[in-house]
Amino acid sequence: MVDSNNVELGFVEKTDSHLLCSFHFPSKVGGKPSWLSLSPLPSNKDLECSKCGKILSFLMQVYCPFEESPKAFHRALFVFVCRNVVCCSKNNNENFCVLRSQLPRNNDFYSPEPPKKETDGPSAKFYQDLCVVCGLRGSKRCARCQSATYCSKEHQEADWKTGHKAVCKSNVPTPASAETVSRIKVYPDCNFPEYELITEPEILPNETEKEKSEEDKLKEYEEFMKSKAAESVLPDSAAKDLEKMAVSDNSQDQVFMKFKERIQDEQEQVLRYQRNGMPLWVSECHIPKDGDIPNCSCGLPRTFEFQIMPQLLTYLEVDSLGDSIDWGTLCIYTCSGSCDIGNNYHKEFLWKQDFSDSNI
Ligand SMILES: [Zn+2]
Ligand SMILES: [Zn+2]
Ligand SMILES: [Zn+2]
Ligand SMILES: [Zn+2]
Repeated sequence: MVDSNNVELGFVEKTDSHLLCSFHFPSKVGGKPSWLSLSPLPSNKDLECSKCGKILSFLMQVYCPFEESPKAFHRALFVFVCRNVVCCSKNNNENFCVLRSQLPRNNDFYSPEPPKKETDGPSAKFYQDLCVVCGLRGSKRCARCQSATYCSKEHQEADWKTGHKAVCKSNVPTPASAETVSRIKVYPDCNFPEYELITEPEILPNETEKEKSEEDKLKEYEEFMKSKAAESVLPDSAAKDLEKMAVSDNSQDQVFMKFKERIQDEQEQVLRYQRNGMPLWVSECHIPKDGDIPNCSCGLPRTFEFQIMPQLLTYLEVDSLGDSIDWGTLCIYTCSGSCDIGNNYHKEFLWKQDFSDSNI
């Protein structure tokens, strides 16, 4: 049996952007990726939505070294999503991309010892031009100032509207201060709000709690659902599901019931990390069967590493628009051997599970 106590929960916290640079090896949500391998970065082609073709938005990265492998002394997983609501469909992962990066302790970019100065360190922009909007490769250059670089025409337009128009001067290099401004500038249509991702071990209710009678538990659960349906931290869709659950025969989706019970004490968790563990499913529908999780290109099977919870949606400021991207949970499966990929970024696998419709 999997030890259910070795789950790390992730929570978001507002932090100064400069603490989330690559050389701090952060786990973070939103803003721009803090690339681990600083070169070569993934090609923008690899980060196009397979549905609409637009550049994906950076959702989060998790720093998760692989103790067993000296090749993965540093290791991070990056998750990207298309913000276009049209590309978001139920139980379908095509608007997502997950990339793995890893480096040995002695590598091409970072000192093998922790940095003495906390304020300065290597960055991906030393090695190639980056898009000032999204932080991906920026091979397109503003024709007027020859200074600002972009991944795509769309992001150039976004920057123009958000203020580049005012600072762009023919042939005058952008002053350092302007660059700083553009680094922390927010592009609400292209980036998600930035947070640090803090993890702490999950503490399960104590044994006496577990010994409660089934009847008591059911009663508690009904109370919980009644109270939470109204003031839930879950996104609207989840809250609606809860309401439906509260009035319907709740013996139907045991999986959803277990989900609610498990997150009850830490409702703001946005991530559950448990390498080789078991995801906490939100529904009994669309759970992967044998063969649904493809092997890594090295031939090794992929195993579960972490899942992104629906609570994260409330921090992304997307659901104010009504129709927006959505998920029940996003489960990340990675190469069980974290195979050697040099300085490259390697695609891993994401399984998207949505809440079931009114508990079929
Ligand atoms: Zn798309
Ligand atoms: Zn861009
Ligand atoms: Zn310009
Ligand atoms: Zn592999």
